[in-house]
Amino acid sequence: MIKVLVVEDDPQLVRALRINLEARTFEVETASDGKAALRLTFASKPDVIVLDLGLPDIDGVDVIKEVRKTRGVPILVLSARHTSEEKIQALDAGADDYVTKPFSMDELLARLRAAARRGEASAPSPDISVVTTEDFTVDLIAKKVRRGSRSVRLTPTEWHLLEILITNPGRLVSQRKLLLEVWGPTYSEHTNYLRVYMAQLRRKLEADPSHPRYLITEPGMGYRFEG
Ligand code: CA
Repeated sequence: MIKVLVVEDDPQLVRALRINLEARTFEVETASDGKAALRLTFASKPDVIVLDLGLPDIDGVDVIKEVRKTRGVPILVLSARHTSEEKIQALDAGADDYVTKPFSMDELLARLRAAARRGEASAPSPDISVVTTEDFTVDLIAKKVRRGSRSVRLTPTEWHLLEILITNPGRLVSQRKLLLEVWGPTYSEHTNYLRVYMAQLRRKLEADPSHPRYLITEPGMGYRFEG
C-alpha cells in the first residue's frame, strides 16, 4: 500500500483528499502545517508527499528544501500560486511535479501515481530498458530508436534529452533541469536551445509534430513524456 502524506491547511480539501485517496487504497496521513509535515516525513516515512505551498507557518518551498536535505521521497506540489516563477522555485527546490488549484481529483491521482512510480523506480530495481509507444520504440541500453521498421538517427544531444524525458514518464521535467543535465550549468537560461532540440525530436518521433502526443510542452515550465 502506498503511504501518502497530505500537507494542507484547508480542512475541507484535506477531507476530500483523504476520502478520494483512501477509496483508491492509498494509506493517508495528514499535516496542517510545515512543522508537522517535517516531523511526519521523518517519523513515518511516506512513499509520496502532497504538499500545499501556502502553509501557515513555514513556506512550502522551504519545507521542500528541508526534506531534500536527507530524503528523496517524491513531492507533488499543490499550488494556488499562478506565477510560473513560484512553481519553478518549488521544482528547483526539489519538488517532482505540481498541480494548480483548483484541480480535478482525476488529474491529481494521475500525477500522484506517476510520482509514486518514480519513487519506486529510484529504488534499486532493474531499470526500464525498452520503451514502446504506438509510434516508436526506444531501446535505452542499445541506444536505438525505431519507427516501425526503420531506425531513427538521433544526435547525442537529442538522445540525451529523450533519455531524460522517457525515464521520467508522466512527470514534468523542468527546463532548468534539462539544460543543466544536457548542456551544463552555464546554459541554464538558454531555453531557446530546448525549443530547437525538442522540435527536432518531435519531427523525428511524432506522427504530427505540431500536435505532439508524446513530447509535451508545459509552457514556461518544462517538458513531459506521455507514454
Ligand atoms: Ca494553504
